[in-house]
Amino acid sequence: MTLTKDQIREALRAVMHPSGEDIVERGCVMNIAVCDEHASVRVCMTQGDPGAPQPAREQLAKVGAVIDSCVRAAAKEQGIEDLGLIVDFVDHQGEVVMKLKGDAKTGGAGASKREGQQTPQNKDATGVPGVRHIIAVGAGKGGVGKSTVAVNLAVGLAKKGHAVGLLDGDIYGPSLPTMMGLQSHDQVVIEGALQPFFVHGVKCITMGKLVDTDKPLIWRGPMAHGAFNQLIERTQWGELDYLIIDLPPGTGDVPLTLAQSVQLAGAVVVCTPQKVAQDDAVRASGMFESLGVEVLGVVENMSFFIGDDGKEYDIFGRGGAQTMAQRLGHPFLGAVPINMALRQNSDSGDPSANFEPERAGGDALPRALRGMVDQFEAQVTLSQMSRGSGKPTLSIS
Ligand code: ADP
Repeated sequence: MTLTKDQIREALRAVMHPSGEDIVERGCVMNIAVCDEHASVRVCMTQGDPGAPQPAREQLAKVGAVIDSCVRAAAKEQGIEDLGLIVDFVDHQGEVVMKLKGDAKTGGAGASKREGQQTPQNKDATGVPGVRHIIAVGAGKGGVGKSTVAVNLAVGLAKKGHAVGLLDGDIYGPSLPTMMGLQSHDQVVIEGALQPFFVHGVKCITMGKLVDTDKPLIWRGPMAHGAFNQLIERTQWGELDYLIIDLPPGTGDVPLTLAQSVQLAGAVVVCTPQKVAQDDAVRASGMFESLGVEVLGVVENMSFFIGDDGKEYDIFGRGGAQTMAQRLGHPFLGAVPINMALRQNSDSGDPSANFEPERAGGDALPRALRGMVDQFEAQVTLSQMSRGSGKPTLSIS
């Protein structure tokens, strides 16, 4: 039994805003994420009225309690007796002003279907000391924007205050030197430990700075595996909230072996909307699942294009990857538009610019990227909760 985002959205229509509209109609519901019997809702009560003062904490607590009871009632209708619910109230900048957490029990008939999936099948897989979540970004084939998503996810998480590492696991075709602007940097090694580059708020490491990228890398599987492991293990990462790994494209021997060799908390699958790309993404998702790695969500890249006339053009058939995600039961993390500034900022190694409307060709790209990062964060939290770690207790803070 699971609750869908649409069912939660419907339930939230019963929650009224002081203006007389319901909070969904008013546009106050910024984000909904669901994972098994756990859900999170992000609400901005002053949405549409930037000048309005934040409601007092007591008022927010009251609204939170109504949200909690409405969503819980909808969950009950779906047979979920004990929902884990987080309600975040945010201001216009997306800063959390109050967090409300509802308790959830585990076990019994409602136990999470993902509980058995938390350990990768490969018992030799290594964790990285001091790193909380290791997340792989994969794609069924090359050129769909996997590295672009990995880079912007890492930079977006760093912008939200997380300690983030980014590992270029695409050892045959490393993109990080260009996309993160590492050309003029030299790799530093201290007492045998690789020192990650610290750029755009992210610690990153790439094979592209250790080998001559003009020459083709003709490593066979085991050599690629060894090089990848050395990149992970010999880098002095320090304490990290997230280590994002940009995997090689496809589902062949190399991405499979690499995904298997490290203890992943989850994976993100990147896909463009076309049918052929979806078929490959289904295989990528199957690869992660066969390794016991939870797919935290799908990102639809090159979803649509905004012309100079301001119109949105669905060049590749917008929504295709979203439909595929729904069909496979994976969360949808968001749609990234085709955007010339994104391509230029990637080529010039300035991903931070993608988050600034004046350097991102308008607000559409920063909004899409921030939405993707928010959804990703929510899914990581929910996934942890559904596995029984970091379970919430009833508290208002
Ligand atoms: P992959 O890692 O899947 O091979 P990349 O992330 O390297 O793909 O992207 C391939 C090329 O497409 C890069 O030049 C990148 O800048 C560009 N690109 C990716 N996504 C977009 C987008 N949404 N809008 C414009 N250009 C994009």
